Amino acid sequence: MIRLDGTKVAADLQAELTQTAAGLREQGIVPGLAVILVGNDPASKVYVGRKEKMAEKIGIKNFAYTLADDTTEQQLLELIDQLNQNDQVDGILVQLPLPDQIDEQKILQAIDPAKDVDSFHPENVGKLMQGLPGPKPCTPNGIMKLLAAYDIPIEGKHAVIIGRSNIVGKPMAHLLLEQNATVTITHSRTKNLAELTKQADIVVVAIGRPNYLTGEMIKDGAIVIDVGINRLEKKLVGDVDFENVAEKAGYLTPVPGGVGPMTIIMLMVNTIKACRLRRTP
Ligand code: NAD
Repeated sequence: MIRLDGTKVAADLQAELTQTAAGLREQGIVPGLAVILVGNDPASKVYVGRKEKMAEKIGIKNFAYTLADDTTEQQLLELIDQLNQNDQVDGILVQLPLPDQIDEQKILQAIDPAKDVDSFHPENVGKLMQGLPGPKPCTPNGIMKLLAAYDIPIEGKHAVIIGRSNIVGKPMAHLLLEQNATVTITHSRTKNLAELTKQADIVVVAIGRPNYLTGEMIKDGAIVIDVGINRLEKKLVGDVDFENVAEKAGYLTPVPGGVGPMTIIMLMVNTIKACRLRRTP
């Protein structure tokens, strides 16, 4: 079994991006990323901290906003409006989930699609679906980059995705389809799910259930991508029963150190791209 080392691939991309950012700086352009955190969710705080730290390392200017738990929808919309108009800000990210009083869709739709570095705006989702150029969502695009870094061919492969969220499962299907995979999307209501995963050359698991995918559910040599992040008492585990699946899989992503670092670095890729598109001729 070959471990798909997201930490390493992300570090290589980080080095490239640092050079690109330095080049932009020489032209007097400093890429800017605004990260908005609303409330005190501990996991969200950790993710936001990692994103800000990575931006800083690369030479992207952080515009960090930590808002109170009782922030109103109107207040958040006003902040987004300001950031949409701020020329120094190339990317805007609102960390999800948001508190109940705020309509997530309204917020995502308020972000200027040209600054939508998470690629959750319906305009960018539509572009992805039609295969048009635009920012690609970070987690699934990070997975595609990881597969490419290990020269894993996608064309003609049967990919089975477990989970149909807007953030991972659905866009993952489009990116794999774009590269000519045959894609099956499964979810909580799928019957005989293991019958499908057993046929898969590539399995992507994104459901948030610790150690869900076992060796019995895959075929020999399968490429297994574990998106899940589950916090057990003192341990972080994925949706894949790692030890068990490792005995049978051809390739496997670890948790941590697989998809997570790729997600963060793809956010930086999208920010630098958005900056170039907006500010260079
Ligand atoms: P979500 O909660 O929005 O959706 C979960 C999906 O899983 C649903 O479509 C549901 O139908 C499906 N599902 C739930 N239980 C199932 C079961 N028993 N069998 C089959 N399908 C089932 O999830 P999400 O936002 O896509 O996140 C999924 C996991 O991935 C979470 O653990 C999350 O923390 C993690 N995640 C990691 C990264 C990363 O960068 N590594 C990024 C995003 C999400």
